[in-house]
Amino acid sequence: MTRLFACLAFAPLVAVSSWAQSPAASALPYSPSLDPASMDRTVDPCVDFYTYSCGGWQKKNPIPPDQTSWSVYGKLYQDNLVFLRGILEDAAAAKEPRNQVTREIGDFYGACMNESLVNQRGLAAIQPQLDAIAGLRSVHDLAPLLATLTLPGGRTLLFSAGSAQDPDDSEQQIANLGQGGLGLPDRDYYTKDDPKSKEIRERYLQHAQNVFQLIGDSPATAKQQAQTVMRIETAMAKASLTRVERRDPYKITHKMKVSELDKLAPNFNWAAYFSASAVPPFEILNVSSPEFFKQLNTQLAGVSLADWKSYLRFHVANTNAPYLSSAFVNENFDFYRKYLHGAKELQPRWKRCVEWVDDELGEALGQAYVRKTFPPELKDATLKMTREIEDAMALRIQQLDWMSPATKQQALNKLHSIRNKVGYPDKWRDYSSVKILPDDFYGNSERATEFESHREFNKVGKPTDRTEWGMTPPTVNAYYDPQMNDINFPAGVLQPPLYDAKEDDAPNYGDTGSTIGHELTHGFDDEGRQYDAKGNLKDWWTTQDAEQFVKHANCVSDQYAQYVVIDDIHINSKLTEGEDIADLGGTILAYIAWKDADKGMTLADRDGLTPDQRFFVGFAQWACENDRPEDLRARAITDPHSPAKYRVNGVVVNVPEFGPAFGCKPGSPMVKPADKVCKVW
Ligand SMILES: [Zn+2]
Repeated sequence: MTRLFACLAFAPLVAVSSWAQSPAASALPYSPSLDPASMDRTVDPCVDFYTYSCGGWQKKNPIPPDQTSWSVYGKLYQDNLVFLRGILEDAAAAKEPRNQVTREIGDFYGACMNESLVNQRGLAAIQPQLDAIAGLRSVHDLAPLLATLTLPGGRTLLFSAGSAQDPDDSEQQIANLGQGGLGLPDRDYYTKDDPKSKEIRERYLQHAQNVFQLIGDSPATAKQQAQTVMRIETAMAKASLTRVERRDPYKITHKMKVSELDKLAPNFNWAAYFSASAVPPFEILNVSSPEFFKQLNTQLAGVSLADWKSYLRFHVANTNAPYLSSAFVNENFDFYRKYLHGAKELQPRWKRCVEWVDDELGEALGQAYVRKTFPPELKDATLKMTREIEDAMALRIQQLDWMSPATKQQALNKLHSIRNKVGYPDKWRDYSSVKILPDDFYGNSERATEFESHREFNKVGKPTDRTEWGMTPPTVNAYYDPQMNDINFPAGVLQPPLYDAKEDDAPNYGDTGSTIGHELTHGFDDEGRQYDAKGNLKDWWTTQDAEQFVKHANCVSDQYAQYVVIDDIHINSKLTEGEDIADLGGTILAYIAWKDADKGMTLADRDGLTPDQRFFVGFAQWACENDRPEDLRARAITDPHSPAKYRVNGVVVNVPEFGPAFGCKPGSPMVKPADKVCKVW
């Protein structure tokens, strides 16, 4: 959760969707936040509440061929893409004079959609980078070269680098280095010994060989170089922290002087790297995984210049592949999205182009999006709900039976310091310095990446800007940032069916209320609780209260460890612990807030459901989803969230009001004995 430069060396896997030829939309379609037709009332809610709430949806919504999974969130994201496509097509076709934002997003989209020009340009788009690698004269010169090789989407070679809040003083930005440099989605892919992991590595070798052949190498040379890439990456993977380790803020906090970094990895010319990256001068930085950089240092001494060139050529071509000609795009799709995640078809180009505009110019596109989808009334209503959920949290903290008054005071202090960010940023990012041409897709993307990289590095040594957002307005997602101590809800996640002004309170609190409560609870999960009200990594717990927290949190992780994802793979519940705690806390807070908001009102049954039942079905229906086995397998390694079914069933078994709402008998699968119920917040 520390804000780093992301280093995802694989194709983005945002859940988007079907309707390849669907026309651009001028408004978002409507679907209700509680849809009785999405339920399967033949299923006993006391036995499997998820299928009771979502069984109808699952039957009616097969996974579109271009998707890796399909869900209520994914479908809304798809609706957003169709809608944004309309905005972008208009912007691309508009006659001059256009305003600055319209010109930026219109030309970026138009250039991206010119597929024949992209194909015509082919490999030439990355030839300057390949030439620079070919010209590398010694391993010592690697550092300044790395600084000039720009990969799309802020991805970096060998390691990640950027700025982050100082863990001891969240008001200040410092430089930050992290592990990276792998072509598979996680270090575990290189270290696990089961047959499936071995098969994936064989397929990855083949993929790497294909990429080398695409950039002009003979099959024999390509095969040899693929093995070189695998050898270098395996050594780096073994020295990388696991995802579970990275959830411990103390394991990723190692502040040091630049001189200490020079001692840690003397074979890399750090001064040259930071200077070529135009990072403002600094003395202290955070190195999130020192062991990784020690290993990198060993590799720098032991790997030949020729092998480094192979490694760099592969990563430049592989990471850029989605932005290049069809042969590259297809090879990338075949390995990452099709083989690893099970998609059957490549997404149509317009979808990829809309996503790229959102990635690269998100706060330009976002302006047009919120103007059409996020009126002030919606902002007021969702902000009001956020405050109510915070009041519920305050009440809950005061009533906790396992926490001392001293720690409660600290927790309340932290709660009251949380900043609520709803809809969109107060000030928009200005992209006017990025040169965007109507006929240069790769160049546009490269310049947008350089802009972002420079913006990120340029923060070093400066005060933190607390108004910044880590997600764009159309994003169908939300987040809590422990160092900012803020909760963020983009306009995209506050649309029907997630937030539905046409429906009664019950399903809205069940759905959006639970999401708000989820993000709020992240401030107090096993990771977030280690940061104080200012967002500093500082222990505010008494020893006894901390022990109590761990005991209660273990109840949750022990419960989720029992659940099977697919075949014999169980949930890695130490990876999902924070999300599972947030899911439980969020629903409890939403229930309390709803009861308070509707206090004194006589609530009627609707659709054959009591108000309490509507709350719980509304909650469950955010998570309706169909999954592919390949995607479940991949997400079991990389996704900190539990599979959708358990994000519902795993929660309701711990909510005491659930059983009575559905008249469940004691001993039903969805009702735990009172002494087994997990309660954290
Ligand atoms: Zn979460």
